[in-house]
Amino acid sequence: MTETDLRDIPRDWDVVVVGAGPAGSIAAVEASRYGRRVLLVDRQRFPRYKVCGGCLNGRALGELSAAGRLEMIRRRGAVALHTFTITTADRRFDLPLPTGLAISRPALDTSLATAAAEEGAVFVDGCKAKLLQMHDDACRLRLVQKEHDLTVSARIVLAADGLVRPTMRSVDDAKAYRSRSRIGAGVMVRDVEDVFPPGRIFMGVGRGGYCGVVRVEDQSLNVGSALDVDFVDECGGVGPASIALLQETQLPIPAALDDDVRWWGTPHLTRSHGRRSGHRLLALGDAAGYVEPFTGEGMAWALASGRAAAVLASRAIDRFDDGVAQQWERRHRATVASAQRRCRVIAETLRRPLLVSGLSQVLTRAPSLAAPLIKAMNQPTS
Ligand SMILES: Cc1cc2nc3c(=O)[nH]c(=O)nc-3n(C[C@H](O)[C@H](O)[C@H](O)COP(=O)(O)OP(=O)(O)OC[C@H]3O[C@@H](n4cnc5c(N)ncnc54)[C@H](O)[C@@H]3O)c2cc1C
Repeated sequence: MTETDLRDIPRDWDVVVVGAGPAGSIAAVEASRYGRRVLLVDRQRFPRYKVCGGCLNGRALGELSAAGRLEMIRRRGAVALHTFTITTADRRFDLPLPTGLAISRPALDTSLATAAAEEGAVFVDGCKAKLLQMHDDACRLRLVQKEHDLTVSARIVLAADGLVRPTMRSVDDAKAYRSRSRIGAGVMVRDVEDVFPPGRIFMGVGRGGYCGVVRVEDQSLNVGSALDVDFVDECGGVGPASIALLQETQLPIPAALDDDVRWWGTPHLTRSHGRRSGHRLLALGDAAGYVEPFTGEGMAWALASGRAAAVLASRAIDRFDDGVAQQWERRHRATVASAQRRCRVIAETLRRPLLVSGLSQVLTRAPSLAAPLIKAMNQPTS
């Protein structure tokens, strides 16, 4: 992307969004549409890779459509999904998907950040933000891009800075991840073999976690895993652990996943937080809490909370009182929390080999039994 130089931007903003993942970029799109002066910053240079399964479910597509950005994602080459194939050590079954798209995170996130800029937001990448102070009428943030730094003021800060949520630390720095929480790993490889046909998510569920493979635009394969920390230690790293899972669950190992591939890891995944807001500060997306990714809903949660945060922020710019924080908690519960509870139950089930084996026997014979669950995951936000 064309780099915006920190030295060229104004110092006063209505909304500063920290983090240009799906949550932050869609919030910037929407807040700009409400006529707000929006600055969107990300510490990484774009296009950037992010560990993810790369699958957008029906709910995520609904959010993109409501923001007028779905066609843009299709045009970018996103692959239509029709089947979720789950394999274990001794079984394989196919669940039909009502809808869904697979797209790499460099393509998706760059498209959304570009969309925010098209709506009038200023996007500065390669720019790290740190919240300095929260005053009655505005927050102050320090931005650093290469050797330059700038202090800006924002009437509202939207913390969309992912699992670790550095922006929220000043209001809540309690340990948030669960002790048995899995960690994530992923990689994207160019692949010309056709053992992983497009339109199908392959998910191997093994004893140390699960590993998903899906074909995205440009014929690349997107590989993403959630792994037990002990299993990673036993296998000697996140890459070997992901490959061991593919082997254990009878999935082919793409030739491109050779020793030279650089795998990316994540911190602990499942997190819940005591606070999702501070004075003139709202946390959204993964920064508001996350549950490990088996059901592939994180981007739907991020997009839903991004759009909701934009509405609330735009209304609360002139007057931000305790009621705004309470509204944000309620909104979070309504848009995300109940889906996360369901996902937590599934994640716990996957840790019990006997249950996984019993369930896979049942679903091999009657895959339609999973239909209500799949329908619920693809339902639009209420
Ligand atoms: C293995 C795995 C597989 C997954 N598969 C799926 C899937 O198939 N489908 C799905 O919907 N979800 C999936 N998810 C979940 C999904 O990736 C996340 O829920 C989603 O990315 C959350 O979006 P976000 O915008 O909240 O945060 P992120 O996408 O993490 O974006 C946060 C951004 O903030 C930036 N940032 C951080 N700190 C700062 C700072 N100080 N200053 C400036 N910028 C900063 C980061 O650089 C980053 O770009 C998966 C996750 C994992 C780990």
